[in-house]
Amino acid sequence: MILQSCSPQPTSTPANCFSDSFLVLHLKKNFKSCYFYNFKKRPKILKHEMHSLYCPKSLSSNFKIQALETDAGKLDDTTTKLEYDDLIWPSPSDEIPFWKREFPSWDIKTVGPVDIPKDSDPMHIVHVTAEMAPIAKVGGLGDVVTGLARACLMRGHKVDVFLPFYECINKLHIKELALTSTYNSYYDGSWIPTNVYRGVVLGIPVIFIEPSNHFFKGQSVYGGAYDELEAYLFFSRACLEWLQVSSTQPDIIHVHEWQTGGLPLLYWDMYHYLSLKKPRIVLTIHNMEHYGECRAEQLSKCGLDGSIYATEEKRLSLLKGGIVYSNAVVTVSPTYLKETLCSGWLAGTLIRHRDKYFGILNGIDTAIWNPATDAFLPAKFDANNVEGKKICKLFVQRGLGLAPEGLPGDPDKVPLVVCITRLVAQKGLHLITNAIRYVEALCVSSPGNEHWANEILTENSQPPSTAPDARVGREFEGLAQLHNQGSSLRILLTYSEELSHMLYAAADIVLVPSIYEPCGLAQMIGMRYGAVPVVRKTGGLADTVFDMDDKSQPEMANGFVFEGIDEGSLNWALDQPNEWMGIVKKVMQMDNSWNNTAGKYIDIYSSVRARDQ
Ligand code: ADP
Repeated sequence: MILQSCSPQPTSTPANCFSDSFLVLHLKKNFKSCYFYNFKKRPKILKHEMHSLYCPKSLSSNFKIQALETDAGKLDDTTTKLEYDDLIWPSPSDEIPFWKREFPSWDIKTVGPVDIPKDSDPMHIVHVTAEMAPIAKVGGLGDVVTGLARACLMRGHKVDVFLPFYECINKLHIKELALTSTYNSYYDGSWIPTNVYRGVVLGIPVIFIEPSNHFFKGQSVYGGAYDELEAYLFFSRACLEWLQVSSTQPDIIHVHEWQTGGLPLLYWDMYHYLSLKKPRIVLTIHNMEHYGECRAEQLSKCGLDGSIYATEEKRLSLLKGGIVYSNAVVTVSPTYLKETLCSGWLAGTLIRHRDKYFGILNGIDTAIWNPATDAFLPAKFDANNVEGKKICKLFVQRGLGLAPEGLPGDPDKVPLVVCITRLVAQKGLHLITNAIRYVEALCVSSPGNEHWANEILTENSQPPSTAPDARVGREFEGLAQLHNQGSSLRILLTYSEELSHMLYAAADIVLVPSIYEPCGLAQMIGMRYGAVPVVRKTGGLADTVFDMDDKSQPEMANGFVFEGIDEGSLNWALDQPNEWMGIVKKVMQMDNSWNNTAGKYIDIYSSVRARDQ
């Protein structure tokens, strides 16, 4: 079993500061006799043939393959005939960890289903967001903005994304980056000179806002040495100001989370009285945990009279303002919508605005998350040819010191459980630590298997874990020290997009034991990469994963679902038997793409847009 973590660490306590980690549960037990998965009840699934690991198909040699600019989903033979032996296999003692090797540049702008019909009534949609994958991604918000924007572009709409020009953005990922203008935007009694850059990210036009003050400086997206709430209020107004000075009137301004929840107020109470008439506002709530609570004087600093908005509750929240002032409000799954109407400080507000509140399940961008073309994988695969997945698994096992050298076939018989998550309570940390204890106990109580005698310490060159809760960070650092020296678990406290792709590809099981989960992308990405999900029944997890033992809807069954928040129910889910390869192929074929759900957003955009402007 394995676990990994460490990520950009906020120095203050912004509402949405994240620390991420991978939990890779790696059971160095034979499928055949593994009590943990109880596979002996279904011998059919044991057919992991060792020689298949050496099948030369679907290999990339030392990552020299360029991402395919073709329709995703099918392996291209010309890229898969490289020799297995050409792979440079990683080892834990490598000076450069395998996920930090050089990868081919990844230009997927033309990748995507080619047969997507264009919508008949194209709109101009502008996203105003704090995150965008891959250049400023902290969690699912970044993935969603990029995926939805690309889906709408492919359907024939004009899309722009407004993003703060964070100092930490890796500019190498931005094409055609250029300073296009400088204008002034208001903050706290002054007009701040602000640069506007334009660039293209994965085919999406992006407008970067760079104020000349200290906002958005620092080494991470969140947690810089500035007042985050004031910075995002400034950003929200700066976007509207830019639309005004450039005479741009999009049909839809789509804001996300509390960070840009102030924009609808600024629009309806200020800019709509000035020159912006046409735009209508859509807000997506990705997570209700953070409200963007603010003081009246903070609101006043962006030019509004804060005292007017401090209502009888005397509790100001940018998210609440966004809900009240937006033309439509969306949250990211139907089940989470119901949950938010029943609990939480803003439930009453949402109930009052129920008629404009919708639940739309997120999708994943199947061009970015595509095991058949993924530039980060040592071998490609798809639902019709899963040989490459075995290579990916062996590659990760060796790189992390989990595979006994000289026994290349055996590691494939060891189930690999991966958990890729932020280290926050929402993600079910006590269930994750339970899973660690559970696996360790199994290994200790079932000695005698020579394949789990290897002990390799995975070195982590990243700074130590910096979970938002320092106590949690320390706990996981302690667990990493304790378990990373063993043969069955790795705890990697780091943020790495490349490693996340490799781990999804390597995993047999992706574990998502969240206490609550608005939508969750890890289970969808995992399925796309042939990892069977084990999830807690909550929010979007309940909308996307259906239990194999639920006989009422066998056609939907695609994973394991447990309901309690106690360790016993997770153990129960992990103990379930199954016909493995059948499920792997089934989950890979499920369509969780934006093709399915972008249309629902388009319908909402269409229903609120102003047609007479
Ligand atoms: P949340 O937005 O609450 O973090 P989601 O499941 O919606 O959860 O999205 C999480 C996204 O962040 C996924 O794309 C996941 O792969 C990614 N992620 C989480 N932890 C890490 C990490 N340590 N390194 C790289 N990517 C991570």
